[in-house]
Amino acid sequence: MKRFLSCLIVLTGVAAAEIHGPDLKGMDTAVAPGDDVFKFANGGWIGSTDIPADRSYYGSSAILIELTTQRVNELLKLAAAEHARTGSEAQQIGDFYSSFMDEAGIESKGLKVMQPTLERIDGIFSRNELAAALGETLRADVDILNSTSLHTPHLLGLWVAQDLNDPKRYLPFLLQGGLGMPDREYYLGTSPAMAAIRPQYQAHIAAVLALAGIDGAAARAARIFELERRMAEVHWTRAASEQIEAGNNHWSRAQFFVLAPDLDWRAFFSAAGLGGQNEFVVWQPSALVGLSKLIATESLGTWKDYLKYHALEDAAPYLPQKFVDERFAFYGRVLQGTPELRPRWKRAVGASDAHLGDAVGRLYVAKYFAPEQKKRAEAMVQNLLAAFDARIERLDWMAPQTKLIAKAKLKALKIGVGYPDHWRSYAGLRIIRGDAFGNWARADLYEYRRQLAKLGQPVDRSEWVMNAQLVNAVNLPAMNAINFPAAVLQPPYFDPEQPLAMDYGAIGATIGHEISHSFDDQGALFDAQGRLKNWWQPDDFAHFRASGARLAAQFDAYRPFPDLHINGEQTLSENIADVAGLNAAYDAYRLATQGTTPVRLSGFDADQLFFLSFAQSWREKIRDPALRDEIITDGHAPAQYRAYTVRNLDAWYEAFQVKPGQTLYLAPTDRVRVW
Ligand SMILES: [Zn+2]
Repeated sequence: MKRFLSCLIVLTGVAAAEIHGPDLKGMDTAVAPGDDVFKFANGGWIGSTDIPADRSYYGSSAILIELTTQRVNELLKLAAAEHARTGSEAQQIGDFYSSFMDEAGIESKGLKVMQPTLERIDGIFSRNELAAALGETLRADVDILNSTSLHTPHLLGLWVAQDLNDPKRYLPFLLQGGLGMPDREYYLGTSPAMAAIRPQYQAHIAAVLALAGIDGAAARAARIFELERRMAEVHWTRAASEQIEAGNNHWSRAQFFVLAPDLDWRAFFSAAGLGGQNEFVVWQPSALVGLSKLIATESLGTWKDYLKYHALEDAAPYLPQKFVDERFAFYGRVLQGTPELRPRWKRAVGASDAHLGDAVGRLYVAKYFAPEQKKRAEAMVQNLLAAFDARIERLDWMAPQTKLIAKAKLKALKIGVGYPDHWRSYAGLRIIRGDAFGNWARADLYEYRRQLAKLGQPVDRSEWVMNAQLVNAVNLPAMNAINFPAAVLQPPYFDPEQPLAMDYGAIGATIGHEISHSFDDQGALFDAQGRLKNWWQPDDFAHFRASGARLAAQFDAYRPFPDLHINGEQTLSENIADVAGLNAAYDAYRLATQGTTPVRLSGFDADQLFFLSFAQSWREKIRDPALRDEIITDGHAPAQYRAYTVRNLDAWYEAFQVKPGQTLYLAPTDRVRVW
């Protein structure tokens, strides 16, 4: 899940004025909740708020992200001022941050830092050397099941995770990659809006090459673009890549040589540090075969230009400003519609989080996540689990033996609240003040090697995949675990000073969402140990498929652009999780408040506050290009449409007297009930 937060914080500069309760000013009560619950809850705020110039979207989660970024920035500045002992975490994060902030230092080094990389590429004279160079670019930069990030600009992406057939061991998963734009659709989509982006990307490639002083940039860019377009042709779609059973293809090392002979795999794997690995999972086999064919059919010169362009693009955040600006001009302005680059300090926070996340998280938790908050959140999780357990018990469509397995899986679920049990160590990672580029390159490689080192080790179910200072939450299906980072557990979603119903409508629905992933169409594929083994009876599955199909149709009907509707199939797991999570949160809030005096606040009763809090938690404004990107590449529906989840709950109809004829009204038989 992502971007789920409710905005009751109004940020003015650094100071945050908090409202404890529904944001009345942000509503538009002229709109009936039954016609548009998103506008009803958020219309006032939408009308009076501009998206900040350095953002592609703004709203509940973005406001908390901005607040957290400011807080982390203060922590990093303090660490930088400490000049701590070399090798200590304070030194590592302080020097990483201050090097990134040292714009003058970065300018004065110019492109010198890239020379060794560019010269190595110049020195490629054979296809085996090309294979080795491509292998060197492999990074652990994708994640199929947890963060569901399926895109990498490198030829292939690596994910080290449990073997889905034998969850006691790790295996390397290889994913399709190579595209500079976010998805194959950007290269192949036939609508004028998609086609209009392509010449701008090609011009961007040319601009990057020209900035690096490479001659004939326009002609080279045309060839690089064409190479990527051919890669896109063999790529799987996002929806196809989400099919777990289709992706779980075990290949022995020998199979690569037989099935995809055009790439020198010996050279590739050896350069990638995988020379001794005998077993892999190839997620999109036909794409891997198709990509490897391009090694033989495209000229070596085009490949070398391609490698140079991507090396420059990868490193751009750590290069002189002209590279940063050119990268932003395409990825920020064209693809996201964002007018202004984020200030350097925000980018420095982002880079520090990305490369030294746990060291930063440790400081963040010490200052901003009190033990009482952790306890309170854990109690809420227990109520959600109890609500889920009761819902499973009551299901009339699920076979008794399936229910037993579901309950066992619920019991085995490992829920992490706030931060991991063990912080990751960065021992041995050399961070040198004044060497922004080198710090990045070493940290990037350090993380890659850490991932490789897992191969052959026992699986660690306590490992987190998110930073504690991240405003988000995640289910790890193969680990049967959930992470709720500290930064998401703060007002307004989780606020001791607001009615409990509102906590449950906001963070409660998120907790329920994440729990339900263990039981949705993907969760049903994994048993309590994380083995890919469908534990449902055929009838259970048939019911689930039928409900899922109706929910997919519900989302297919949302049409933000004339040429683009929400993809109901691509977003189905997340939408099911939203319906299930909201249902469980509703039950849990009833459970938590039984026997207490019914609350009323600002004219709303507890049920209304619950749903209002949910709808405000999805508050968001987003720029059109960013919305387009999200619809095409994201497994989640855009925020506004996630707010419409309430249509599927009977209690919402009662709370707001929603009647037939209203836009969001669904007849009781059309409301989707899964859990
Ligand atoms: Zn989710």
